[in-house]
Amino acid sequence: MARKAKTVKYRFPDRVSQDLLRAFLDKKIEPTIKTLKQLIYPELDALIIDARKVLQMDSYVSVLTKLIDKASSKVDMQKSIKKDVENASKSITQAYDKTLKQSIGSIGLSGSITAAIENFNTSNVSLISNLSDETVHKTQQFLLQKFSTGARASEIQEGLEEQFGIARRKAALIAIDQVGKLQGNVAQIRQTSLGIEEYIWRTAGDDRVREEHAALDGTRQRWDDPPPDGHPGQAVRCRCIAEPIFADNNE
Ligand SMILES: [Zn+2]
Repeated sequence: MARKAKTVKYRFPDRVSQDLLRAFLDKKIEPTIKTLKQLIYPELDALIIDARKVLQMDSYVSVLTKLIDKASSKVDMQKSIKKDVENASKSITQAYDKTLKQSIGSIGLSGSITAAIENFNTSNVSLISNLSDETVHKTQQFLLQKFSTGARASEIQEGLEEQFGIARRKAALIAIDQVGKLQGNVAQIRQTSLGIEEYIWRTAGDDRVREEHAALDGTRQRWDDPPPDGHPGQAVRCRCIAEPIFADNNE
């Protein structure tokens, strides 16, 4: 770098991942859970009784299949998450570039981040839609298994609530993981295309930081030689940051 780079703080976009998770839950996961509950809970007692009388024509399997099909078609008609995902990628990249510009001043940004943004947008839409479908599918499997073992309604409801909790936690994992990955990708593309070869590994500094990354905090790393776990943001759910080292700040 020709001019002295300013020291600026690079941060993990917590707010963006929280907003993204909110959209995931509000538009996809909670409506899916609500649909399943509305369709299944009122039928639960009848289904359990039916499951004991398996010789009946209209067996519990076909009743359950109809309920699940209904749930699936409602899930298919859910609100689109596309705009929320696009807003997230825009916020992440704009905030990153703004911070980077503060350190490099008049030097122009380089490197194309279009592919990284597009990848984030399509991945998130499909990941969260798949999670919705998976929740419906797992509910069906769970019910079939419980009916065949003669479980009681209260026990089944408890088990279902647990499954729904897992879906909510998976949505949170996707949001943090994906935001970290995009932030990490953009950092790598922007920095390497500016000729930056090294960075300082910075963790989020809270108690959620994994041990391996806490050990890397403050260490100097090379873009062409990542640590075993990859660069910041590459490991699952990683919220670490690559703080660029500018040539004139070196020694
Ligand atoms: Zn990390």
